[in-house]
Amino acid sequence: MNIGAHVRGGGKLVPSLEAGVEIGATSIQVFVQSPRMWKPSQYAPEVLAAYREAQAAHPSVRQTFCHATYLINLASADRELYEKSVACLTSNLSVARGMAASGVVLHVGSHKGAGFDEVIKQIAEAFERALEDATPTPDGWPDCPILIENAAGAGGTVGRSLEEIAALIDACGGDERLGLCIDTQHLWASGVDYSSVVGTQSLMDDVASSVGVERLACLHLNDSKIELGGNRDRHANIGEGTIGPQGLAPLVGHPLIRELPLLLEVPGDGDGPRARDVIAARQVVATGVALYEGVASPTSVRKVVRAVKVTTATKVAATTKATKATKATKVAATTKVNKSATTTKSTPAKKAKKS
Ligand SMILES: [Zn+2]
Repeated sequence: MNIGAHVRGGGKLVPSLEAGVEIGATSIQVFVQSPRMWKPSQYAPEVLAAYREAQAAHPSVRQTFCHATYLINLASADRELYEKSVACLTSNLSVARGMAASGVVLHVGSHKGAGFDEVIKQIAEAFERALEDATPTPDGWPDCPILIENAAGAGGTVGRSLEEIAALIDACGGDERLGLCIDTQHLWASGVDYSSVVGTQSLMDDVASSVGVERLACLHLNDSKIELGGNRDRHANIGEGTIGPQGLAPLVGHPLIRELPLLLEVPGDGDGPRARDVIAARQVVATGVALYEGVASPTSVRKVVRAVKVTTATKVAATTKATKATKATKVAATTKVNKSATTTKSTPAKKAKKS
């Protein structure tokens, strides 16, 4: 498993890495400039090279991710804000490439009611411009993708569904430098119930038939202060929210998820993830892995899901109110229908899209 954390090193890169080492994180995520200000931080090439060396000197931290500035809105109708957003994303990506980061995680922004179809083209153009104009990755280091983060679904936010994210990637001709970061809290708030093995498998089928599993680069692992479908972005410490360890376990234990970087963005005591949050996350993954015990390979998960489906559905029905039980039955029913469709469909459909 690979439990990461969003860390702060007083705005400095190497101290951020050390803060990650201190709490036992095996991946880290950082802001490369103040997240609520436009002013970019300037890093000399030596500073970025020093970061790459520091990471090599701290092999316990396997990957670094950068989180793009929150002010960015690539879906804005305001031309000035849009241009500032493209410039900011380009600058964030330049720094991330210089750090040899594994991705820049991005909230795309909000169309504020104009509609997704109205803004898809301008967002695709923004991605292409940033990917072309950012300072190239230094020789010998893997390229750094832009990772589109799913949104909680409030007020016209773009990326509220996997289909929207897939449409954005398609609009860029399926550019390989675009990927996906799933935030567990946002997903829950947008109404996706993955809190059972059946629910998680249904989600993974959706990932496979939309964005593609190979584009899923990391997850943001957070509990939620908001109920399922509440459409708001409010992170809680693991075990202190409405999802709970039992609700997160099926997702983070899934064979295609458990080895991905799972980056905590939890509040901790107010200063972000602590060592004990990393430990709590490890326990949730271990619990989740046990749910899939006996599964030899990801492809055989479906068989196990079929076997445990009845048990899980019964458990959910017994422990929750009648309304929730209906939902679980619905999920189970949809999964059953989807299953035959997606198993045969997903690969050819993806190929067709690319050609
Ligand atoms: Zn997030």
